[in-house]
Amino acid sequence: MSSHAATPAASAVKPVVVVVDTFGGPIRHHNPELPLIYWDDAAVTRGDGVFETLLIRDGHACNLERHSKRFAASAALLGLPEPDAEYWRAATAEAIQSWPKDVDASCVWTLTRGRAATNRPSAWITVKQIPVEHLEQRHLGVSVMTAPRGFSVTTTPDEAAPWMIVGAKTLSYAANMAALRHARSCGFDDVIYVDGDCVLEGATSTVVAAQGTALFTPTPGGDVLPGTTQAALYQHAEWKGWDCQETDLTVQQLIDADSVWLVSSVRVAARVTRINDVHLPAPANEDKVRRMMFAALS
Ligand code: PLP
Repeated sequence: MSSHAATPAASAVKPVVVVVDTFGGPIRHHNPELPLIYWDDAAVTRGDGVFETLLIRDGHACNLERHSKRFAASAALLGLPEPDAEYWRAATAEAIQSWPKDVDASCVWTLTRGRAATNRPSAWITVKQIPVEHLEQRHLGVSVMTAPRGFSVTTTPDEAAPWMIVGAKTLSYAANMAALRHARSCGFDDVIYVDGDCVLEGATSTVVAAQGTALFTPTPGGDVLPGTTQAALYQHAEWKGWDCQETDLTVQQLIDADSVWLVSSVRVAARVTRINDVHLPAPANEDKVRRMMFAALS
């Protein structure tokens, strides 16, 4: 468990914004109080772009390699220029330098198709404090409702839809945010998307179930975004002797598990305390599992 918390000092820290030149020009700090994007940027007009959200801890970006790889894969799927991993790494280090080392932060990389007027991609990095709600949910857990996603990104061979952006982390998150608002209006904290009885993923997280010394997660790919946190967790847990499986999971299997977790880069891990009307009591090893999840990102 992190000792880092939302202290009054943390809440006073101003966001850091760094503009990235996709042609490799100088990295430039931007005043977070001033506008950054033009009205004709594809991010605004179409939600056309990709992003990554990274945890900043102890002055460094966690899980950087996996984020870089997924960022490049997302950009490729959208036909955007390949982000130069070294350049983004340097820009991230530059942005983090202005952030207090003892305060966890959320760092977002954004790459858009850019302005209609110039056809030049736009890119920037922000570092800002983690929402207090996320910090609280690390300790208190989350209640979730299950819900259909409302669309599927997978198709049968007969219905090939090659333009579907499967596996890309795109800027089009309005539907995910709407699902979260809906869950809150129904008295829940979060959502787990399901396809029939089959578990997919959280609105902004990967679902992981713990049973004995085994971990289970829905197979990444298709309707399930490959999660960088889940991948780091599996690597760490396997090293610790856990049996880690990617497999089909039903809602009932989640309910029957010792514990269920939503894992993602910034919140890291929140134990699911309720699924629909079923309460999930804390298992005896709750702290042990949580510690392992946080250690995976160190
Ligand atoms: N699935 C979805 C839909 C997400 O939006 C996210 C994170 O934002 C995740 C899974 C978890 O991914 P990661 O662990 O890389 O943050």
